[in-house]
Order: sequence, then structure tokens, then C-alpha cells
Amino acid sequence: MFEFQLIADYFTWDNNDPTVKLSVGDDAALLTPEPDRDMVISIDTSVSGCHFPPDTSPYDLGHKVLAVNLSDLAAMGATPAWFTLALTLPDSHPDWLAAFSNGLRTLADEHHIRLIGGDTTRGPLSITIQVAGTVPTGQALLRSGAQPSDLICVSGHPGDAAAGLDCIQGKLRLPGPDQQHCIDKLNRPVPHVTLGKLLRGTATSCIDISDGLLADLSHILKRSGKGARLETAKLPFSTALHKLTHQQHQHYALYGGDDYELLFTLPAAKFTEIQNNATTAGVLISCIGEITAQNDELLINGQPAPAICGYNHFTE
Ligand code: ADP
Ligand code: MG
Repeated sequence: MFEFQLIADYFTWDNNDPTVKLSVGDDAALLTPEPDRDMVISIDTSVSGCHFPPDTSPYDLGHKVLAVNLSDLAAMGATPAWFTLALTLPDSHPDWLAAFSNGLRTLADEHHIRLIGGDTTRGPLSITIQVAGTVPTGQALLRSGAQPSDLICVSGHPGDAAAGLDCIQGKLRLPGPDQQHCIDKLNRPVPHVTLGKLLRGTATSCIDISDGLLADLSHILKRSGKGARLETAKLPFSTALHKLTHQQHQHYALYGGDDYELLFTLPAAKFTEIQNNATTAGVLISCIGEITAQNDELLINGQPAPAICGYNHFTE
């Protein structure tokens, strides 16, 4: 299949959005952003065998590569607007491309984010998406604003995706429906865009959990110059993880990556209001600890946490 036909068939989508003057088809896209908003830009590459198992279905892959990028916008409190797609493919199978394009487009439509261009090359499977969104000027959620005595909160059930990966790799066995739940969590992460927007003006810091709860919390602590006290008894576990030993589910929740839940801090007085709004939006919010004034100190159930190592591409 010719490159241009491939782009025309699978990645040229109708969009009648007033902010998009020119989309796929020219040398570059032309956009007219709304006034009084800051632009929020992020990029993520997914490499086969590193970011996803090589046998991930093309539909799931289309979903996931966009979901992980939308999750970065969510963590900034942004409203998704546009994205570009750089696709490196070993070959061009119409079935693969149709399923990939469907997974990508279904999630894109759900979040009203427009595909405005990209690049298509041949090589080992690798997919890069760059997303752009907007926030009202000055309202982006940063990692750097956590204050002593703020509550540390997390959405959903951290740990399920890591358990799902272990199920796929044969390192963990769960009853059928629980196993499927965890694998779905890995392959079809839900970016918390609505929650991110709800947190604007209230959360003092926010990050999405891609490398593991502790590893990502440590980014908030570093950027904010603060410490944290966590209580593992407050970690929210899914029905699936409840079937494991306490030690196992705690390990998945604290160290497991790929969840794309939001981890954020807010003043205690704001917790109930945010929790109620999140519940209305169908998102579970749990408070799992508190920020302390002690720079970089992390206590888990009162004990200093062991050295945290989230996923790092350049360690041996
Ligand atoms: P150029 O050679 O000028 O860089 P390309 O041939 O790479 O242009 O791309 C032609 C048009 O198709 C451009 O508008 C580009 O943004 C778009 N495009 C290329 N690949 C993709 C893709 N995978 N998804 C969406 N748009 C794409
Ligand atoms: Mg090009």
C-alpha cells in the first residue's frame, strides 16, 4: 500500500472544528487556538516489546497510545484539542491498520480531540503521539504546588494494570473475570480527563501514574520540596486484587506502573467537595496520606520507604 493511500484511508478523518483551519494533507496543520487559554503540549512514544506486549491487539494499541497521551493532558487539568501521529510500521496490513485506526478514533471521538497530521515511516513498530490541549490561562495543574498537611489522593484502583501484565506473562493467575479486568486495565487505560478538569483551581499538585504510585509521588515531592506520609490501609483495591495476599496487592498498588490513575494533593477542606464531584462523574477518589514539610521524606505506615525505583529506560 502506498504511503499516501494509507494516510488517506486510515488517518484522514472528517473534522469540522472551528479551531482547525487545515488538517491532514498539507505540509503542516493550521490552527486557531481560542483566546485566554494556555496551550498544554505533551508527547509519548510507545515501542513494541517495551511499552506494550508485541501481541497486543491493534485496536487496543490504537486506544492505548492515545490514552497515555490524554492522561498527561488530564494530569495538567487540560481540555484535549489536537494530536499528531508518527507511525513506524514494519509492513502495511489493511486489517491491522483498520483495527488500529478504529481504536484510536473511538477514543479520540470520545474526547473530542482532532487528528491534525503526522508522519508515516517503515521500520520496527513504534508509535509516537503528540497531544495538545488548553487550560484557562494560569490554571494548569503542576507537580510543584503540594503544601504541608495537604491530603494525598488517588483515583481508581492503582495496581490492576501491573497485575494484568503479570497475568499476560504467566507470572500471576487470577480467576477468569478478575484476570480479564486487570488485562483490560493494562490494554484499555481510561484517561481521567474529566477528573483533571474538576481539579483545576483546587488541587495543589497532580501527576498521572505511569511508572508506579511511589515513583510518581516522589516526582511531586521533589518538585514541591515536601515529604509525605502514606497509609497502606487506605489504598483502594479492586475486587480482583483483593483475591491476592496483602503483600502482593500492596506491592502492585505501590510499585506497579501503567495505571494512568491521577495522583494529586489538595487542602483537606476541599476533599469532600472533590470526592462528591468525582463520584458524580463516575470516578472513585481515595485519600491515602498526607504531605509533610520534610523535604523528600517518605514514610509508609510510619516507616521510611525503601529506595523507590520506578521504571527507568536507561538502567541496566
Ligand atoms: P511531508 O513530506 O511534507 O512531511 P508527509 O508526506 O509526511 O508530508 O505527510 C503528508 C500529510 O499527511 C501531512 O499533512 C501529514 O501531517 C499527514 N500525515 C502523514 N502521516 C500521517 C499519519 N500517520 N497520521 C495522520 N496524518 C499523517
Ligand atoms: Mg513528513
